[in-house]
Formats: sequence, C-alpha cells, structure tokens
Amino acid sequence: MIKSRLSIEETKAMFIFVSKSIIQKKDMLTKADKAIGDGDHGVNMARGFENVEKTLKKEEFSSIGNMLNKIGMSLLTNVGGAAGAIFGTLFREGATGLEEVIVLNSEILAKMLTNGLQAVKKRGKAKPGDKTMVDALEPAVIKAKELIGKPLNEALKAITQQAERGMQDTKNMIAKIGKAKTIGKRTIGHPDPGAVSMYLILKFMAEFVNNNYKYSQS
Ligand code: ADP
Ligand code: MG
Repeated sequence: MIKSRLSIEETKAMFIFVSKSIIQKKDMLTKADKAIGDGDHGVNMARGFENVEKTLKKEEFSSIGNMLNKIGMSLLTNVGGAAGAIFGTLFREGATGLEEVIVLNSEILAKMLTNGLQAVKKRGKAKPGDKTMVDALEPAVIKAKELIGKPLNEALKAITQQAERGMQDTKNMIAKIGKAKTIGKRTIGHPDPGAVSMYLILKFMAEFVNNNYKYSQS
C-alpha cells in the first residue's frame, strides 16, 4: 500500500526498514569516508542504526516525537565521531514540538526536518557549502516546506530528489569543516559521506511509503 500518512506503528516499521537499509550500506559509506576522511563513517552509522533498530523493536512509543527523541538518543549514545552528534541531534531535536503527535504526515515531516536542520547547524556550525550533511539536508528542508499538505509518499519522493542533488553538489565542494577539512582541495570529486547518509535515510523513508518494502518488523 502507498502511504499518504503513517500511524505510530507504521512510522516505527519505516524506521526499522531505514535502519536495516543503512546497515546494508556500511561498506559503501566506509569507502566514501576513506576517500576524504578517516574511513569510520560506515561503521559509525551501522553501529548507530543497529542500536536504533533494537530500541524500536523493544520499546512502545506514545507519539512521533517520543519515537524521534529515542532514535536520536540511541544515535547520540552509540555512534562515535561527528556523525553521532550530528545525526543524533537531527532526530532528537527534530522531535521538538511533536510530543503529542500520533500521525506522521508531510507537515509533521517538514517540522521534523526544519527543527533538526536548525539544531544541527547550531551544534555543528556548518554552513551550506562547507561539504557536510547540511548540503543534502537543507535543500530537502526547503522542498519539505513547499510540500506541506501533499501526501507523505509524494512529498518524500520530491524531498529525496533534492537531497540527492545536494549530495551530488558536495562533489564540487572543498571541505571546510570536520576531518575532511585537513585534506582541503583533494576532497573535490568526492561526495561528503554524511551527505550520502542523509540522502540515503530520506531515500529509504521514501521507498517505505511508496511500497518498495516488505512490511515486517522481524
Ligand atoms: P568523523 O568525522 O568524526 O570521522 P564520521 O566519519 O562518522 O565522523 O562522519 C563524518 C560526517 O559527519 C561528515 O561527512 C559530515 O557530513 C558530518 N559532519 C562532520 N562535522 C559536521 C558538522 N560540524 N556539521 C554537520 N555535519 C558534520
Ligand atoms: Mg570519519
């Protein structure tokens, strides 16, 4: 079934699907980080999402905000490196104001991404163009705001396209922040690994709501 909005249980199933899918991208993300960083991004993300998957399976959630907050905490406490703080912040602060919300639709998604981006920028101090996950997330947020009121499946497809474009754009950027900064110009030609992860998280969410998945929590 194609989903225009998700219940708490369906949102949980979506993030379990996202977790499993990110874990499968471990080697690809490691390679991306080896090219311009220290090569731990795949391991970091896989470890983080293994814990997210466990948390999602064992806990019950009273709201979308409650779930996002726990996902964020799980990433913050289990992922080493910059990515733990950054992606943990995205989910934890993305939960702001959603403590009573029991349906995930495109408006709630836009709120989550907007609040998450704002908090990531505040915490990490990265600006657009610095070659980080912000370069994938910011265009996604702009699109998400435009698409409030559209069905979630349609919104997520368009949001993912923007995140992909933003990720591709990082290939032309020189890293100005994080570990990749030390190799400066030699980062040109390679995408930012965190931007790849950001794009993939949205892509897997979009796949879930557009039915390219097996509905299962096992
Ligand atoms: P580390 O950089 O500590 O080795 P990872 O390799 O897991 O951690 O993650 C690197 C990714 O984290 C980068 O590709 C970038 O997208 C993101 N990142 C690093 N620093 C920041 C920051 N200050 N703001 C936003 N994103 C950042
Ligand atoms: Mg790294």
